[in-house]
Amino acid sequence: MGMALRGYYTSDRHAEPWIDSHLDIRDTNGQVVPGYGWIFPLGDGRVNVGVGLLSTGGAWKGVNTTKLQEYFVAQTAEAWGLSDETCLGAPTGGRLPMGLSIGPRVGANTLTIGDATGMVNPFNGEGIAYGYESGRLAAAVLGEALLAEDPTALALYDERLDAAYGDYYKVARGFVRLISEPKILQACVGLGLRVPPLMRELLAIMANLMSNDAKGPAEVGYRAMSRLANALPAQAWDLIFSDGAKT
Ligand SMILES: Cc1cc2nc3c(=O)[nH]c(=O)nc-3n(C[C@H](O)[C@H](O)[C@H](O)COP(=O)(O)OP(=O)(O)OC[C@H]3O[C@@H](n4cnc5c(N)ncnc54)[C@H](O)[C@@H]3O)c2cc1C
Repeated sequence: MGMALRGYYTSDRHAEPWIDSHLDIRDTNGQVVPGYGWIFPLGDGRVNVGVGLLSTGGAWKGVNTTKLQEYFVAQTAEAWGLSDETCLGAPTGGRLPMGLSIGPRVGANTLTIGDATGMVNPFNGEGIAYGYESGRLAAAVLGEALLAEDPTALALYDERLDAAYGDYYKVARGFVRLISEPKILQACVGLGLRVPPLMRELLAIMANLMSNDAKGPAEVGYRAMSRLANALPAQAWDLIFSDGAKT
């Protein structure tokens, strides 16, 4: 389970056209933490400043989003003019139910979508697009069940959700488990963020922007991880990679 938190500030940079994204957040000792931060300029005098924490287990049990937000605001305060004076109130947040972790998704006459079924992408904490996408899949299955006058057809939703996202989320859960190890996280941030071509490929995987037909490094790397995930029995995979993403 991930967590996210955001607050609002007034800022002279409120009208900038770009989102500021940070994959490198450090605590007061300079240690990298497994979170990411963003600043969305809102264009109305305010900016939205927030953090996401993808791993809440293992070595990161003591890190919470309130602390992470403090670190992130301290890191970006000067560049964005963030201070007690420009702060518009206490930040608010919530859970990020990730990796298809919530079930059952199909009831006798119900289907769950979005956060209610754990649709947040463990690679990046995004859940809005996946909320819509699962909603579309559910609506199609519901339509078919109504046309066939067969409520048991609702079970197709489970199959389609797994076919569309099962492999990707399995790899993503493994990724979250790996970056939960401080040394691995440090290596990823050190190497990944400093080698632009590697960063581009990683982003393509993390934002699910790969194409089924393409043969670029992101697609090849992802398919190799996916094959490994599928070569191991599901229980073995979950035993090795049993951190926060599926709890
Ligand atoms: C701080 C934060 C920042 C985030 N930033 C991003 C981001 O930048 N990009 C991204 O893709 N995702 C982001 N997410 C995740 C994203 O917000 C969620 O994944 C997404 O909103 C899920 O949509 P949903 O419709 O499933 O659930 P929700 O958006 O939670 O909608 C559920 C709705 O149901 C209502 N409801 C609950 N119970 C009842 C009831 N009994 N009767 C009637 N109504 C009820 C709730 O009030 C709510 O309005 C963020 C999450 C957090 C916490």
